[in-house]
Amino acid sequence: MKNALILLAGGTGKRLNSKTPKQFLKIGNSNIIEYFLYNLDPKLFDIIVIAINEQYKKKYLNSLKSKFHNHNIKFSKSGKTRQISSKNSLVFLKKFNPKKVLIHDSARPLVSNKMIKKILKLLDTNDSAIPFIESQDYMISKNNNDLSNDRIFNIQTPQGFKYKKILKAHLLNKTTNARDDSSILEKNKTKIKMFKGERYNIKITKKDDLIFFRKIQCKIFRHGIGYDIHKINFASKKKLILCGLKINHKSLVGHSDADVGYHAICDSILGSLSLKDIGFYFNNKNLKWKNANSAIFMEFCRKKLQEKNFKIVNLDINFICESPNINKLSYLMKTNISKILKIPNKIISIKATTNEKVGLIGSGKAIAAESIVQIVNE
Ligand code: ZN
Repeated sequence: MKNALILLAGGTGKRLNSKTPKQFLKIGNSNIIEYFLYNLDPKLFDIIVIAINEQYKKKYLNSLKSKFHNHNIKFSKSGKTRQISSKNSLVFLKKFNPKKVLIHDSARPLVSNKMIKKILKLLDTNDSAIPFIESQDYMISKNNNDLSNDRIFNIQTPQGFKYKKILKAHLLNKTTNARDDSSILEKNKTKIKMFKGERYNIKITKKDDLIFFRKIQCKIFRHGIGYDIHKINFASKKKLILCGLKINHKSLVGHSDADVGYHAICDSILGSLSLKDIGFYFNNKNLKWKNANSAIFMEFCRKKLQEKNFKIVNLDINFICESPNINKLSYLMKTNISKILKIPNKIISIKATTNEKVGLIGSGKAIAAESIVQIVNE
């Protein structure tokens, strides 16, 4: 086990005067924790521990694990204070023995993957990595004293630590209401490594913060369409492959594995990114792609989305065929698509229609598929 993330979600959010704690307030269809997890690169952490009380977990995060099966999510008990929640989670992580741990306030959903990567890298050579920003405003104290000559820092999270160091510091600590985890480590005489954080990594504490957060949700949506058709190969003894699933049915004629489902999906993704079609990138005259597994093409499209900083909002696939019965297979197809594109099952739809005995498809000699995808910038 290498990297762990602790997400502190035990707060009651009294300052917002809302019955719902801030970390569970809705931004569109997601709450703030879901928003954060949706944008978090799943490759960065081997385990994510959410410190939360049982009541909140049941009420707000019941379906979290199924929504985010790309992340390895566990829950630990939150405590009366931030420090106790943090300590509980660090103790919970003992059996996983991570090398590095990041501790993050769940009310800061805007931190970028770039900054998280930076913290993990800093931990290669430092015991801690604590982000801060310098105040840009002219500062005075309540008594009108000019503070602008003092350097005033705002400390942010996630705060990164070598796991063993921060665990030890917490176990030795006698207080229960420390400001944050870096202050606990400081007490233990460990040198703190500070670095410049991100100004937009705000903590949602007051109503104004929530308004700001909603305002910056400037999203670019794009759409793409894909269509593919292959004839049935009555002479072949191979099985039919649709959306990566091997099916007891006559196979299709094609240069690759002739997976019309995957081919339509690929073209819709490439279309949404204003790229060319699948034939351009994987020419059917190139022997390299002879009998190729179309999962390779899907993986290529996923990487293109990643390169251009887009993610899939929803994917709608329609098969046009007399047989096989797609409804019976759709769950397994969705699972394949979800795994390969690293998207949740719930945003994939698979439907089917016959061609009412009309034409090549209607006479059971071909299978077609069409796909529409919506994507959004990250
Ligand atoms: Zn095809």
